[in-house]
Amino acid sequence: MLFYSTQNKENRSPIKEAVLKGLADDNGLYMPEFIPLLPASFINHLSEYSLPQIGYAVLKNFFCPEISEAALKSIVEEVFDFPIPVKQVTDQISVLELFHGPTMAFKDVGARFLARVLSQFTKGVEKEITVLVATSGDTGSAVANGFLDVPGIRVVVLYPKGMVSEVQEKQFTTLGKNITAIEVDGTFDDCQAMVKEAFLDKTLRSEIILTSANSINLARLLPQAVYYFHAFAQIAKEQQQDTVIAVPSGNFGNLAAGILSKSMGLPVQSFIAATNVNDVVPQYLKSGKLEPRPSVSTVANAMDVGNPSNFVRIQQLFNNNWSEISQSITGLAYTDKQIRATIKRVFAATGYILDPHGATAFSGLEQRLGKGEKGLFLATAHPAKFPEVVEQEIGVRLEIPHNLVKFQSGRKQTVEMHASSNQLKNYLLT
Ligand SMILES: *Cc1c(COP(=O)(O)O)cnc(C)c1O
Repeated sequence: MLFYSTQNKENRSPIKEAVLKGLADDNGLYMPEFIPLLPASFINHLSEYSLPQIGYAVLKNFFCPEISEAALKSIVEEVFDFPIPVKQVTDQISVLELFHGPTMAFKDVGARFLARVLSQFTKGVEKEITVLVATSGDTGSAVANGFLDVPGIRVVVLYPKGMVSEVQEKQFTTLGKNITAIEVDGTFDDCQAMVKEAFLDKTLRSEIILTSANSINLARLLPQAVYYFHAFAQIAKEQQQDTVIAVPSGNFGNLAAGILSKSMGLPVQSFIAATNVNDVVPQYLKSGKLEPRPSVSTVANAMDVGNPSNFVRIQQLFNNNWSEISQSITGLAYTDKQIRATIKRVFAATGYILDPHGATAFSGLEQRLGKGEKGLFLATAHPAKFPEVVEQEIGVRLEIPHNLVKFQSGRKQTVEMHASSNQLKNYLLT
């Protein structure tokens, strides 16, 4: 299979090139040239397959034979070695908990997969490879931990100074080794712009091998389709067609993967794109106009995105047909006050502890679900990653899970930088 650039469908590359480059030369995002429909014998018997088996079935069309079938099998076994359970929260609503991985956020899946695929593709390359990534929180920790100690690869993480929770910051600033954290005096959008400019810089790209670990990289995006199938493996068959999936969204990679899973044959009824007040996409779904604007910071900070980089992929999956997009996806946005109120109300009513991101998706289901419909929302991070907000609302101290405790004792080490592409370039060249 080849992968085209969203800027120009004629510009097509094999998976290896798409993964190594991250972004196409023309600045477009890579997309599969066709979407493989998975056999009904698989879709109808999902519950008989383990999570790694589902991973292999979903991903082999994209990655094999460039990655051998045997190598892909062992990659999915390593990546999907933690549980991704569906749990019932109310009569109508259940949750897919994506936060049982090493950094307790859904990004562990994509980051771990990307790290392994990159090291397959760079076997025998002598020059060091630089993975450049901007983070508003969870990407940095998932990518840094996914790549820690992977030989031949250095990781440079850019993040907005003072805008990432302490728990998150510790997860990528304390690792040392092949991981460097750059603390940028600016916003997440500044960090993302610096990364984009580095990729467009011809001198830089002739001197070093740069690749991206942001959700624009196909090897992060595609494995995220796997857990949608695994979710349905845990849902009664007669309910699947009536299930609405709500996805807490920022850069819209996660939702793009969900829509991809539907295009591959998963019988999802429809999707909700849940956001905080950075509601560029919900606005687009209402008006047909995509109007990026600077992000504002919220309690669901991993979704503070004003120019969602993966949304163009969703448009492509619908052939840019707005009326189809807006029928298949409901966009709903929530203020900090509403997010907090939901965390409080749901805990009081059910005992379930939401994190601020999952809370937007839960609210979306409450608002949107009709009679007879079922809702599944994605819990993208463990609530203990956001104790400042969650504890205040539920009035209970959260126990810090073991996976998070081990980061807390480390010492923060960062490089400070202005929001300047030149400064980044100089740093990368030395
Ligand atoms: C990254 C992130 C999101 C947003 O995911 P996208 O794929 O960028 O839409 C949501 N919740 C959490 C906790 C995240 O870390």
